Amino acid sequence: MNDSSHGFSTRAIHAGQEFDPTTGAIIPPIYQTSTFVQDGVGGLRGGYEYGRAGNPTRSSLETQLAALEGGKRALSFASGLAAEDALLRAVLQPGDHVVLGNDVYGGTHRLINRIHGAWGIRNTTVDLTDLDAARGALGTERTRVLWIETPSNPLMKISDVAALAELGRSVGALVVVDNTFASPALQQPLALGADVVVHSTTKYLGGHTDVIGGALVIDDEQLAEKVQFIQFAAGAVSAPLDAWLTTRGIKTLDVRMQRHSENAQALAERLVGHAGIDAVYYPGLPEHPGHELAARQMSRFGGMLSVALAGGAAAARRFAESTEIFQLAESLGGVESLIGYPSEMTHASVRGTELEVPDNVIRLSVGLEDVADLLADIDQALAR
Ligand SMILES: *Cc1c(COP(=O)(O)O)cnc(C)c1O
Repeated sequence: MNDSSHGFSTRAIHAGQEFDPTTGAIIPPIYQTSTFVQDGVGGLRGGYEYGRAGNPTRSSLETQLAALEGGKRALSFASGLAAEDALLRAVLQPGDHVVLGNDVYGGTHRLINRIHGAWGIRNTTVDLTDLDAARGALGTERTRVLWIETPSNPLMKISDVAALAELGRSVGALVVVDNTFASPALQQPLALGADVVVHSTTKYLGGHTDVIGGALVIDDEQLAEKVQFIQFAAGAVSAPLDAWLTTRGIKTLDVRMQRHSENAQALAERLVGHAGIDAVYYPGLPEHPGHELAARQMSRFGGMLSVALAGGAAAARRFAESTEIFQLAESLGGVESLIGYPSEMTHASVRGTELEVPDNVIRLSVGLEDVADLLADIDQALAR
């Protein structure tokens, strides 16, 4: 069930999920073990020898992820940033250069700028919705990686993956797309020309706000081998229970993304007309600058939206502290709605840089609750 002849949800439910042949248990068990007994030295059953190198529960998640993104291989990690770090270490040498969007996830910028920067990796941030600017940034140095995040966080800018992939490839850069916000249910970057897909599976893939994880999906076997060596040698693997929880979440991804998108669209439309709101950032709105591109590149517009409050930072903070169903917390992509104040929460690490988020912006991760309740919650919070 790994091939594209089956539909998305069929693959989500069945890829890598064969029943247990010894007991008939329909759900593959959690292999909560650190090592595997050998039938004589080197006599491995199923290729497993030690949990850092491989575990059947992790393999099952990796098979499922590869099937969903349409890639040959997937590798699962302890967090999204651990996945990013392994990829960057596999492809970069001191002196190399990375081009990344100027509103990527703050932690991605911190990793590239501060951790890899200390080892001689240079970077340029640029507005990747502007193809001329992207071309300019790519043309100047030893660029090995083009890092795209779309929709972006938190301003929901949409970048043209197909056009950027062509640009990146023309200078020999590896084209990486962080697909965390859209998930493979809404957007499939490999089919658009990207080389690698990155996920924080903590978000929509896990979907239930109970596990931290990350993944890479790679279509090139040789690159996958290089990254797998780092996964094994540096060791930031996902634990068996975490892999199992993520696998379980993924089975309902498609129906969840439908509902997330419907609820977010309804909220965005309500917020547009509101007196206290200066701007609504949601690609499902016709007036959003990336609307047409998003309609081409994504099958739905997703569950994330941001708003700029007319009353500035004080109003934004008050709004974030006044909702009752939307809970004030970092993260996103779970069944429950969350509200965040990026400039002091998720994006505090990029304050003072070009990636700084305006202090009147509030980000909503719209959950799966009844939309009438969510609308009422937003209305009462804005009224305060
Ligand atoms: C959360 C997030 C990450 C980092 O993932 P962790 O699982 O928190 O390490 C990377 N990219 C995006 C877009 C994210 O939202």
